[in-house]
Amino acid sequence: MATHEKVDAVIVGAGASGGVFAAVLARAGKKVVLLEQGPDWKLSDLISSDIWSRRLKGSGPAILYEGKNAVGRTGDMGWGTGGAALHYSANFPRLLPDDFTVRSDHGRALDWPISYAEVAPFYDRVAADIGVSGDAKAEERWRPPGAPYPMPPLKSFRYSDAWLPGFTAAGLTMIPGAVGINSTEYKGRPACIYDGWCNAGCPTGALANPQATYLGEARNKGAEVRPFSYVTRVLTNASGDHVTGVEYYDDKKERQVQEASVVILTAFASQNPRIMFNSRTEKHPNGLANRSGLLGKYLMGHGSATVTAIFAGDVENYRGSNGYNYVTYDRHPKTIRRDAFGSTFWSTTAPFKPNDVRGMAAVRPDLFGAELDTFMKVKARGLTRITAIIEEMPDLENRVEPADEKDEFGFPLIRSVHTFGKDVMGLWSAAIEEGSAIAKAAGAKEVWPAAAIGTQHLLGGTIMGKGAGDSVVNSFGQSHEIGNLYVAGCGIFPTESAANPTFTLHALSLRGAEQLAKNWGSIAS
Ligand SMILES: Cc1cc2nc3c(=O)[nH]c(=O)nc-3n(C[C@H](O)[C@H](O)[C@H](O)COP(=O)(O)OP(=O)(O)OC[C@H]3O[C@@H](n4cnc5c(N)ncnc54)[C@H](O)[C@@H]3O)c2cc1C
Ligand code: SF4
Repeated sequence: MATHEKVDAVIVGAGASGGVFAAVLARAGKKVVLLEQGPDWKLSDLISSDIWSRRLKGSGPAILYEGKNAVGRTGDMGWGTGGAALHYSANFPRLLPDDFTVRSDHGRALDWPISYAEVAPFYDRVAADIGVSGDAKAEERWRPPGAPYPMPPLKSFRYSDAWLPGFTAAGLTMIPGAVGINSTEYKGRPACIYDGWCNAGCPTGALANPQATYLGEARNKGAEVRPFSYVTRVLTNASGDHVTGVEYYDDKKERQVQEASVVILTAFASQNPRIMFNSRTEKHPNGLANRSGLLGKYLMGHGSATVTAIFAGDVENYRGSNGYNYVTYDRHPKTIRRDAFGSTFWSTTAPFKPNDVRGMAAVRPDLFGAELDTFMKVKARGLTRITAIIEEMPDLENRVEPADEKDEFGFPLIRSVHTFGKDVMGLWSAAIEEGSAIAKAAGAKEVWPAAAIGTQHLLGGTIMGKGAGDSVVNSFGQSHEIGNLYVAGCGIFPTESAANPTFTLHALSLRGAEQLAKNWGSIAS
């Protein structure tokens, strides 16, 4: 066992939120170490292949899934520097003001302890820092005005344009999506070449992945990344009022301790609570920062409703990026559907590849042999789809909790229990019906609404709130109970909206990291 020299901050996980904290603290001159369980990827390692890119998917200790709607790890977690955001689609819709006040407005779910107005400047700053392409003026039909995006929207392609008459017929206004992908050269990074391989990671740096943005900046400013460092526990002092560092196992499976003045957990919504449960002591018998009993609780996923269709001719579905071409917030109001509560967010989505996340093969799993051959040779040219993301309200029954099973070092694994309630299922049915009508109105020749609800994104489990009685952290991600322990990522969202979470995750991390840097003297120990 080795104990490493004390540093200012140790960050657990070198993904999207870890990168932001590392950059801000390195800018402030702090000595920062990021411990990452996976390898240290470079952009030049990335290969545009579905098979190769499987090595970027979530790995590490098993998660045990229970409930009807497991939020899968392959579509969510990452493995290695950059985390999941090394190969995400960088769709960057923001939350709207009413997402922060669901309890006050409707007497159900939860309120955020902060308002949209407090987060909005950080959306604009993140957009300028990492490069976002979009049309802010068009978005302002649904949200308060802010800064323009630094780049114009990405190009659209026929597989998206073909749907527009259908959306118009349904009375929905589609606008260009905001995406963290360069439509023009930006800050020395090239413009997108529209080859559609973002889900295998973008070797050119056109995608705003952590290596090309905040994490890269942190390393340039001296932050150290230690790969193959699997963190098992946060360590606390005898009185339990401060954290002192973390315990981890290195690539030789040897136990190490990294001492630090501040610990920041950025190991994704499933692993942050696991580490906190496994750090229990006499002073924190139910896990760190868990006086509320809410650690691991209010786990949320997004439902997804996909409608696939075939249009006449070649829709160019081999071109483009994984970012949205068009989106609408017209189905955002929480009570817009008569029998189901929550928001829905429609988008036209990305090009197809043969397999995996963007695969054509998954569209018709019922076809084999000659039929599959014809489908792939002829019909696949007209194939395109739209997707609605569906909001789930926080529910105490959906949770992660320690399991009886253990990892190779003897630490409990996590059990993830998740089932969508009747509101999500109602919103999903409404979206499937609406999407099918949109396809027909747009002139699709064949239409396949998804037969079952899909899941995307994992949120909650370490939610923010006003105090230790109602939540785990405050709006900066700082633990209510232990001032020099921070948690960042989608886990701190108390409600989720129907928007992809990572733009908001960046904005909250920037806000939290700057609060920490500014108040360092009174927080660090
Ligand atoms: C294919 C794909 C497409 C996506 N598209 C979008 C999109 O379009 N828009 C959007 O908003 N979001 C999208 N996401 C989700 C987005 O990538 C995540 O919201 C975001 O990366 C989460 O950031 P994070 O910092 O919390 O976690 P991550 O980026 O996953 O980083 C966590 C890191 O912690 C490490 N770690 C975990 N446990 C430990 C441990 N015990 N010790 C040390 N290290 C550990 C992991 O290896 C990982 O590298 C997508 C994800 C995927 C996979
Ligand atoms: S489509 Fe654009 S952002 Fe995606 S991998 Fe290719 S160049 Fe990078």
